[in-house]
Amino acid sequence: MIVAHPDRFAVNLISAHKKALELSDLKLKTSAKHSVLTEGGTDELLEKLQDHVDVTLAAIVGMAGLEPLMAAIPYSKSIAIANKEPLVAAGDLVLAACKKHGTKILPIDSEHNAVFQVFEESQRDQIERIILTASGGPFRALSRAEMTNITPEQAVKHPNWSMGAKISVDSATMMNKALEIIEAHYLFDMPAEKIDVLVHPQSVIHSMVEYSDGSVLAQLGAPDMKTPITYALGWPERLSSPGEKLDFRKMSELHFEEPDAERFPAIRLGYDCLREGQGACLTFNAANEVAVDAFLNRRIGFLEIVETVESVLNDVPRQEVSTLEGIISYDEDVRRFTLEKIKSGKVSHKVA
Ligand code: MG
Repeated sequence: MIVAHPDRFAVNLISAHKKALELSDLKLKTSAKHSVLTEGGTDELLEKLQDHVDVTLAAIVGMAGLEPLMAAIPYSKSIAIANKEPLVAAGDLVLAACKKHGTKILPIDSEHNAVFQVFEESQRDQIERIILTASGGPFRALSRAEMTNITPEQAVKHPNWSMGAKISVDSATMMNKALEIIEAHYLFDMPAEKIDVLVHPQSVIHSMVEYSDGSVLAQLGAPDMKTPITYALGWPERLSSPGEKLDFRKMSELHFEEPDAERFPAIRLGYDCLREGQGACLTFNAANEVAVDAFLNRRIGFLEIVETVESVLNDVPRQEVSTLEGIISYDEDVRRFTLEKIKSGKVSHKVA
């Protein structure tokens, strides 16, 4: 996207965790002024984020992205957020910092980017609900019994989107949608009752907003992240995208169904946490990150991911913390608790 618009963007800083070769390649391609590898620690990144910029694209996977995000907010006119975990675990903190510094949030997550495109702020009172669409993941049609022996290799293959391991597993358990419900709450200031989920396996409609007069506004596009990234980086203008375009003539049908709460209990957990508050949302996210990692390393089975999260939610003492340090320390507590639980084999494994 940035390479396609060299007249539009001057890149100040790029970072990666340990992909040194890819990073130096990207530095060449984008003519970025600085590049930072964070494998040895984030100090240099946090320091370099103190340059004033128009937009920061926050895409560090998981809760690890929270500190750099918070560091960038005071120095960025807008933040394009691609990673949902900091919003889920610390939405109040992130929003308060953005408000304080007048920093605009531009969602990149495809569903929220879609909602952002059709959510008319001046008609907020006439908005009946946000409808987040979900592909349903690769195991949409499987029974619980059939899901028992799903391997990490099967879970990281998504039918429509090409994504990293963590988000692919989240998509397969539908934890991704549960996290997105919470993300939508923080991004659009909507209560749980006004956020719905609809399974739409073709991933053509990326999400919708329903208004009181019965009108439903949707954003459609090919399942290609280049579109939401281009929208966010170009906002409020629209730039041309090098990505895939939608061809309606090749589309035979658009299918919709209610998410199955029995087979995918993650969605219910997401709503429960949102209703309970920030501490529950943080716990939900931390337990899930640990459980996904344990699954990818073959320490627990596929169904045990959500079972672990539910069991941690039931057992971990809840804290309501509001500072960055407090949130990071509570997050570490929940991770330790989840790891202990996994090690002790205390997660009940039941097959329906
Ligand atoms: Mg998404």
